[in-house]
Amino acid sequence: MAFETFFGNEVLKKNIWQRLKTGTLPHAIILEGEKGLGKRSFARLIAAGLLCADENPPCTECTVCRNVLGQNHPDVLYFETEKHTKDNFKIDTVRHIRELAFISPNQSAYKIFILAEADLMNSAAQNALLKILEEPPQYAVFILLCEKKSAFLETILSRCTVYRLERVSEQEALEAVSRQLSGPTEEEIRKCIALVGGNIGMVLAGLRGNEALRANEKAVEIAAALLSGYEFDLLKVLGDLEGAAAKALLYALAEPLKAVFRDALALRCAGTASIQMNAPVAEKLAAAFTKKQLFALIEVSEELKRRCARNMNQKLLITWLCAALRTAAEYE
Ligand SMILES: [Zn+2]
Repeated sequence: MAFETFFGNEVLKKNIWQRLKTGTLPHAIILEGEKGLGKRSFARLIAAGLLCADENPPCTECTVCRNVLGQNHPDVLYFETEKHTKDNFKIDTVRHIRELAFISPNQSAYKIFILAEADLMNSAAQNALLKILEEPPQYAVFILLCEKKSAFLETILSRCTVYRLERVSEQEALEAVSRQLSGPTEEEIRKCIALVGGNIGMVLAGLRGNEALRANEKAVEIAAALLSGYEFDLLKVLGDLEGAAAKALLYALAEPLKAVFRDALALRCAGTASIQMNAPVAEKLAAAFTKKQLFALIEVSEELKRRCARNMNQKLLITWLCAALRTAAEYE
């Protein structure tokens, strides 16, 4: 069955798939589910399923599918609020959608409107939307995403078919997250799942947060090693970044490293740090290094970022980083 790329929710996936195959998908859908369950991804899969010409849509591999899934298809229009707060899905946006709905599709049989956070419409905006839902053009399909369908007026609900995304099993969450993050160990992922449950988006956000935190700690350790002046200290700190498990950490290091050097430079030049991250170590760096040295260290952080983007060999990257940091710190 298609939709394999989406974890869990087997009953819902089968239902949608059958409707796609038989051409009986309703023209107005509400996709309900808590934050992190993948409503946007699922909506894009439905849109791809409507437009894909494969006998088993969405195939996820043809040009149409790839364009829809990559948010780059002229007949799949995507709307999102700016501030993600109550009443922020504006009536003007709804009116714009209405105008667009009456322009025929560019190249497809359908024109699909994905309205993320549609539950952030006030009643006036919902009433404007109702006008389109009541008499939509033949080709138009509306997919409204929301956390709670109770935010909609009865009149809207009566026009839509509601589908609900559920959390996935612990095993499915583990598999999904392992595919997307190479940094955390299985134990770390399981711990996070135990904390937030089978919500893949939340587990990912939690682990990415941990990663940023660990990268920041590492940046401080590196700065401290540079301050000590002993080459061995730097070798030891960077040595922890070897091995597959530390790859993500190494890749996440460039930003916090640059931030701490930039703060030190700001302290050195103007007496105040701009970001004030890791203030104690930034102050020590500012006292120990010249402007030229700090500039050179910032440049090393930027070069680290570029090299990570090129997906350089991890071991070579660490060797380079060690030498580059030392050279920059000794720069006269
Ligand atoms: Zn396809």
